[in-house]
Amino acid sequence: MSADLHLRIVQGLNKVGLAIKTNGWNEAARQRLSPAQAQILSVLFARGPLRLGQIAEELAVTPATVSDAVSSLVKKGLVIKKRAADDARALSIQLTRAGRAQAVKTAAWPDFLVEAIGTLLPEEQVVFHRALVKMIRTLQERGRIPVARMCVNCRFFRPGVHQDPDAPHHCDFVDAAFGDVGLRIDCADFEPAQTSEAWQEWLKILPGSQRRCSEDLPQQAQMEKGDASNA
Ligand code: SF4
Repeated sequence: MSADLHLRIVQGLNKVGLAIKTNGWNEAARQRLSPAQAQILSVLFARGPLRLGQIAEELAVTPATVSDAVSSLVKKGLVIKKRAADDARALSIQLTRAGRAQAVKTAAWPDFLVEAIGTLLPEEQVVFHRALVKMIRTLQERGRIPVARMCVNCRFFRPGVHQDPDAPHHCDFVDAAFGDVGLRIDCADFEPAQTSEAWQEWLKILPGSQRRCSEDLPQQAQMEKGDASNA
């Protein structure tokens, strides 16, 4: 039963991923950009000037792929290469004014996705958001994606330190309390935590956390498989 559900969730994610990818390609083509060029503009818009290797790391692609796409963006006048502020021997890639304007359009979330999420009940959105945070963290721990700039990875995150059930966490950067609905997935003020202590703490206080956490998933799945074959 549970293995079937895992499979259906994977299939569902695949469908959503396909819709996002197809929309991204179409939108990039409409703006006369390749998908890689559009992604680079979005990353530079969110993160500011970056070196080639940093962009490659962020997008989980090779430096050669980024280099080709950046050359095209330079020709289009959307980015420029400049000496990096912290190392005169290195180059950083920056948006031009035209590139910034283009990035604003590129970074806009597709309406179809916002509409689809809007059809979920508020409580479904909360569970979905929490589940996404857990999945992203797990993928990142297994080296499948780069480290996301989210609260559960951040040195400023202090989970469960307040009594208020709607705002039990604290962000030391802005010095404010917040709840799970406020957990950021891509925060400009993020700084990486040196330990996984906050993440572990957050997992412990999740609703139903005693039943399952990321560490016991493979073992649990194995047991469920065994149960199913014994039934
Ligand atoms: S700085 Fe950003 S990522 Fe870090 S805890 Fe605060 S809101 Fe979250």
